[in-house]
Amino acid sequence: MVLKIKRIKEIKEYVIEKENITLLEALNYIKENTDPTLAFSWGCRSGVCGSCAVRVNEKEVLACEYKVNHEDIAEPLKNMESVKDLVVLHDAALNKNKKAYAYIKSFKNDVVTEDDEKLNEVQSDCILCSSCYSACPVFSVNEEFLGPFALTRVWKYTVDKREGDTKSNIDAVQSNGVWDCTLCNECTVVCPQGISPKQDIEKLRAKSSQFGYMDPNFGSFGGFGNDFGLSF
Ligand code: SF4
Ligand code: SF4
Repeated sequence: MVLKIKRIKEIKEYVIEKENITLLEALNYIKENTDPTLAFSWGCRSGVCGSCAVRVNEKEVLACEYKVNHEDIAEPLKNMESVKDLVVLHDAALNKNKKAYAYIKSFKNDVVTEDDEKLNEVQSDCILCSSCYSACPVFSVNEEFLGPFALTRVWKYTVDKREGDTKSNIDAVQSNGVWDCTLCNECTVVCPQGISPKQDIEKLRAKSSQFGYMDPNFGSFGGFGNDFGLSF
C-alpha cells in the first residue's frame, strides 16, 4: 500500500507493508521503518483526545479512527498555523472560546436534573480536535469569525440553568458570529463526535431574535419598501 503525505511543499510517497490499519498505525509504521523525521500528533489512540486530526483526500478525520487506503493523501488541518508536516497549532481555534465568552459568566445556584443535562449533552462531547475550523469556509477567509465549536459552546452555556446572564452570551456572538455563518454544514459533516455546530448556530440565531437582534444582512437588501417600490 502507498500512502502520500504532504510535507511542507512536496508530496512524499511511502510504501507500507501492511493492510487494514488505521492512518495513525501507518504513520507510526513510517516513522519506525522508513522515515524517523516524519512529524505528527497523537495521544489517546481511541478517538478521545482529538490530537491526531488531519485531512485525508481533503476531508478531516481522526488518524486513530480512519482506516487508510492505497494512495490516500494525508495533509495537515487547514486554517491553522503549520508547525511541521502534519503538526499544526490549534491556538487560532481554541482562542475563540475566550473571545466568545464560552463559559459560565454569572453563576446561579440551581439544581441540574438529568433532563437538563440532556439539553447540552452532545455539545459537552466536543474533544477540541479543530476539524470543524479546518472545514469552515468562513473561517478560511475571516480569521475573526468565532467559528463552529466556540459557537456550539456558547449554545451549551446558553441552555445551562446555572448561567444567570444568558443575554451576555447572546450579545457576545453578534459580531463575527452567528450571522456570519453560511449554514453550509461542513462543520457538522466532519465532526467525529456527532455534534452539529450548524444547528447550534441556528438555535443561537433564534435566541438572538428573542433578545431583539436581527440578521444584519437582511437590512442590506434595502427592505421590502425599497425593493418593490412600496412604502410602509
Ligand atoms: S455551517 Fe457555519 S460554522 Fe459550520 S462550516 Fe459552515 S460556515 Fe462554518
Ligand atoms: S465540534 Fe466536533 S469537529 Fe469541532 S472541535 Fe469539537 S469534536 Fe472536533
